[in-house]
Amino acid sequence: MTTTSGTGDETPSYSRPGESSATPRHRIEQGEMLPETAYQIVHDETMLDGNARLNLATFVTTWMDESADKIYAESYDKNMIDKDEYPQTAKIEDDCWHMVANLWNVPDAEKTIGTSTIGSSEACMLGGLAFKRRWQHARKAAGKSTDNPNLVMSSAVQVCWEKFCNYFEVEARYVPVSAEHKMLDGFELDKYVDENTIGVVAIMGVTYTGTYEPVDKIATALDAIQAKTGFDVPIHVDGASGAMIAPFVQPELVWDFRLDRVHSISTSGHKYGLVYPGLGWVVWRDKASLPDDLIFNVSYLGGSMPTLALNFSRPGAQVLLQYYLFLRLGMSGYASVQKETRDVALYLSAGVAKIGAFDLWSDGSDIPVFAWQLKPGHTANWNLYHLSDRLRMLGWQVPAYPLPDNLADQTVQRIVVRNGLSMDIAAQLLADIEKETAFLDALESPMPIEGAPPGFHH
Ligand SMILES: *Cc1c(COP(=O)(O)O)cnc(C)c1O
Repeated sequence: MTTTSGTGDETPSYSRPGESSATPRHRIEQGEMLPETAYQIVHDETMLDGNARLNLATFVTTWMDESADKIYAESYDKNMIDKDEYPQTAKIEDDCWHMVANLWNVPDAEKTIGTSTIGSSEACMLGGLAFKRRWQHARKAAGKSTDNPNLVMSSAVQVCWEKFCNYFEVEARYVPVSAEHKMLDGFELDKYVDENTIGVVAIMGVTYTGTYEPVDKIATALDAIQAKTGFDVPIHVDGASGAMIAPFVQPELVWDFRLDRVHSISTSGHKYGLVYPGLGWVVWRDKASLPDDLIFNVSYLGGSMPTLALNFSRPGAQVLLQYYLFLRLGMSGYASVQKETRDVALYLSAGVAKIGAFDLWSDGSDIPVFAWQLKPGHTANWNLYHLSDRLRMLGWQVPAYPLPDNLADQTVQRIVVRNGLSMDIAAQLLADIEKETAFLDALESPMPIEGAPPGFHH
């Protein structure tokens, strides 16, 4: 198409150049557009996105209050890496990771190190890199080969761990989930761990199903392995969701730095930290758990500040939003929000169980996430992908997907309950699940059967 630059401001909406014709998809246009025209195009094209609040697939925050929106609008221009230019934001970041470290019962928050990141993926990569470097140092000191590092984890890990192993050349050793061992629980761990194991990942809040892996049992299994073989294998807890739930909802559960074997913990500030994307946190038990040679120094108030990160520039606003929430909610406010969210999850899972067509895989009592399966033999006419499609027609996004190895022949459907999914909306959702299940059950012939959508990642 052709556009004449800077004209069209007298033309009524939807008949200006740019609006009255299609824009090229993969090439920047030669001419300019009025800001209102460009705005309208961007605004209109994104109307076809799903409604974020009805996205029950995501763990990531889709609602914050007005004061948070105000802070966001005041701070979206701040780059987190400019510590010297924004020393106050840098100090707040430092305060926040210390708060998180204390929340996770670190032995001495003044004697350790942590950082914000763009999300859990970056935080997990940093945790994995610390393991790899620590293992390399130990192997070199002992005059041994550093050729074949491996990382042991459940087959139900989030894709960021596959990425870590791929990008940083570490062998991924997956312990398969099974009907008897639905998650990594220390069972037969000695078959996977050897002298080249840099660490074990424990997941607080398996993304597929929302259940906690028993970090204490994994630690006990590693203690037994050490007693027998001498291999001192550390744990990283991937607490992307659960590390911001367990301290408030299950304070008695011992999964964090109270276990000596836990060297590092990460979480997504943008999941149950309740901040908009993207924000993550990672903290190490002590300085010895993080090899010095991974740390860089950036200029800060005439001196220097230690940093570690994969990215250089990154938005600073999310850190301020996290700080806002720590102040605004405090321990009791977080507990109240997370418990309410869990109550909604328990209400929904009980309702889904009552329909009769489904078996719950989990009920939302760990993190407020639960998954269900079709009861064996319930129907040959439809599957959970059809139910997912039916719900999508009503605006709800409730994904169905296969479980990981060795249960990949089984399909589950999952709901992630977040702050902002009120009891009232949940009641409507449940009514729609009941209605659509009844619709599918009333079918007299089978729906076309499709498999899982390709490339589904959690
Ligand atoms: C979401 C999630 C991740 C990835 O987190 P991002 O913040 O999206 O990068 C990693 N691990 C687990 C267990 C998760 O739930």
